[in-house]
Amino acid sequence: MSRLLNIVRDDVRALAAYHVPDASGLVKLDAMENPYTLPPELQRQLGERLGAVAMNRYPVPSYAELKAAIRKHMAIPAGFDVILGNGSDELIAIVSTACAKPGAKVLAPVPGFVMYAMSAQLAGMEFIGVPLRTDFSLDLEAMLAAIRAQRPAITYLAYPNNPTGNLFDLDDMLAIIREVGDTGLVIVDEAYQPFAGTSFLPRLPEFANVVLMRTVSKLGLAGIRLGYMSASNELLAEFDKVRPPYNVNVLSEAAAAFVLEHAAVLDTQADAICAERSQMAQSLARLPGVECFPSAANFLLLRIDRPGLTGTEVFQRLLQQKVLVKNVGKMHSLLENCLRVTVSTPQENAAFLSALQSSLMS
Ligand SMILES: *Cc1c(COP(=O)(O)O)cnc(C)c1O
Repeated sequence: MSRLLNIVRDDVRALAAYHVPDASGLVKLDAMENPYTLPPELQRQLGERLGAVAMNRYPVPSYAELKAAIRKHMAIPAGFDVILGNGSDELIAIVSTACAKPGAKVLAPVPGFVMYAMSAQLAGMEFIGVPLRTDFSLDLEAMLAAIRAQRPAITYLAYPNNPTGNLFDLDDMLAIIREVGDTGLVIVDEAYQPFAGTSFLPRLPEFANVVLMRTVSKLGLAGIRLGYMSASNELLAEFDKVRPPYNVNVLSEAAAAFVLEHAAVLDTQADAICAERSQMAQSLARLPGVECFPSAANFLLLRIDRPGLTGTEVFQRLLQQKVLVKNVGKMHSLLENCLRVTVSTPQENAAFLSALQSSLMS
């Protein structure tokens, strides 16, 4: 067996597997899922729609109808198209594969979304992480210096950022996009756009080097695995050659089209989550020993700031009370003693807050 495993790349063998904890029986606040489902009547109609899907056929690889619905829903600027991915994770992999020339590099602020570095590595590209400042804003001078020195093929800017939750300053982003110029691509990742109240989309036509990426995952459809990205048609045509032709399955395609016909339901859910986010942030601000950072996403980042108590200890105490959050304290030195918690229903948020309160008592 060990001889056989030698066939696998050394860097792949050295990787730790992406760990997804078992959440059965827990209040699950670790993965930025929308806690709400479709109303029963829409579930029934969706069932009928899915029952009629031609599962015996391959998807039509142009995905023309779903793309048209997404372009309309997203208000994609005229002359711009989208391509679809099996989650935006797949889109990140597609762009990486397409740009992985020998020596090509990938740059992103850190702490950031783990898949940027992972996807770069799997495509054989060096990843350069540029630390954010302590308030999690972009260190513009460091970003510009790194771009000048390294000339990355791909620069990622998550807007808002995960796991910090904040929106970067738009002028900083524009300066980065201009510095990159025609030597690289800037991927603006708007996975949390439904909760952000803003978007880079209207500026997309100004910059030939920008790719705008979104997903339906955080909006309430994490299970169907659907992401999409927009950019100039010339770029999209190249990425489309790398995309597996049937990458979005017919059931996801039909489900997404159905839900977009009822997009108001998801918008209402997103509004409820945003209202809960402010409630939760206010409650957390009143808790001594907890620092809560501003968030434009459907999660909050907290720092446990109490002598003799670590974030990991609080994480474990929450778990003992059947509340699962994400312990991000070891991800990056800027996140020491930090926990990331998804904003959920009023009931689940209350359960989290009371579990947190008792976790803070020593
Ligand atoms: C969750 C997330 C994604 C991945 O979304 P999928 O469509 O579920 O693959 C992409 N980018 C960021 C910043 C995320 O947090």
